[in-house]
Amino acid sequence: MSQDSPGTTGSDPREVIVIGSGPAGYTAAVYAARAGLKPLVFEGSVTAGGALMNTTEVENFPGFQNGIQGPALMDEMRAQAERFGAELVPDDAVEVDLTGETKVVKTATGTHTARAVILATGSGYRKLGLPREEELSGRGVSWCATCDGFFFREQHIAVVGGGDSAVEEATFLTRFGSKVSMIVRRDELRASKIMQERALADPKLDIIWNSEVAELNGEDRLEGVTLRDTVTGETRQLDATGLFIAIGHDPRSELLTGQVDLDDEGYVLVEHPSTATNLTGVFACGDLVDHHYRQAITAAGTGCAAALDAERYLAALD
Ligand code: FAD
Repeated sequence: MSQDSPGTTGSDPREVIVIGSGPAGYTAAVYAARAGLKPLVFEGSVTAGGALMNTTEVENFPGFQNGIQGPALMDEMRAQAERFGAELVPDDAVEVDLTGETKVVKTATGTHTARAVILATGSGYRKLGLPREEELSGRGVSWCATCDGFFFREQHIAVVGGGDSAVEEATFLTRFGSKVSMIVRRDELRASKIMQERALADPKLDIIWNSEVAELNGEDRLEGVTLRDTVTGETRQLDATGLFIAIGHDPRSELLTGQVDLDDEGYVLVEHPSTATNLTGVFACGDLVDHHYRQAITAAGTGCAAALDAERYLAALD
């Protein structure tokens, strides 16, 4: 990016800066670029392309009847944004001041300004922290039953976690698996009473109490897990070929603390059904906002809405 680019220190502000590069950020960039707003997109320095860069087959994004690899889908979205004139920069936004009429976004190399900002930094699934977790992601290890349950038809599936979302994922997965085993660290579930009752009554679901995953086994794909008893320390093998990790997720909103309003869990609050935050000219979309759906298509949908909201906001200013 040249120092003379609009919105770089010393020049007039840009129309729009987008922070984040998953389905939400790139879709916002496509729409903003096609509206002639020449968006500047900070893609992030580590995982430009977002969460789908860490998966293999995506079978539920409309338009691809035979499915598409996650990274290939994101390459297409990126190229589409670029084609219409979005300026894509693989940098992190490290500091923002979004409170004034002119929004300020800093990266490690410069300060940038815009009249509107779209926040699309996503959220991160909590990981177990095991050595082969990343490598086996999309190869038996998953964080999303809606996305990947279908791949494990008639297989033994394990689910890690004991909260509401773990029970929900496990119950959903009984539609596909020959058997579903929940791996729970303690001798009780944290899930609400009604969810517990549902889990305990499900004949396809068994709960392995006082246990944690010690090791992920298999060459190219997950072939089983080693469990450790949290009381005795003893280990044993579980022959599961699918492992769903359901121990929570964290919105990437550290950058925004003290700027836009966040809920108790750190998700950005928006004025549904719009993507407007409490700050004028600041819009938020994708998993950064969404507790519930957390899908590529819903992130893309709200990315589109954020660009349309920004476009209308800017038009009203002129
Ligand atoms: P993300 O995709 O998380 O993208 C956010 C981006 O913002 C990241 O690139 C990040 O690096 C960047 N960023 C963060 N902070 C900054 C910053 N300060 N500056 C600049 N950039 C920043 N969904 C489906 O619909 N189908 C599937 O098959 C499917 N499979 C999945 C498989 C896996 C392993 C995972 C983890 C998720 C899967 N999902 C799937 C869910 C889907 O990936 C997410 O719902 C979707 O990617 C959310 O999009 P997003 O744009 O909101 O955020």
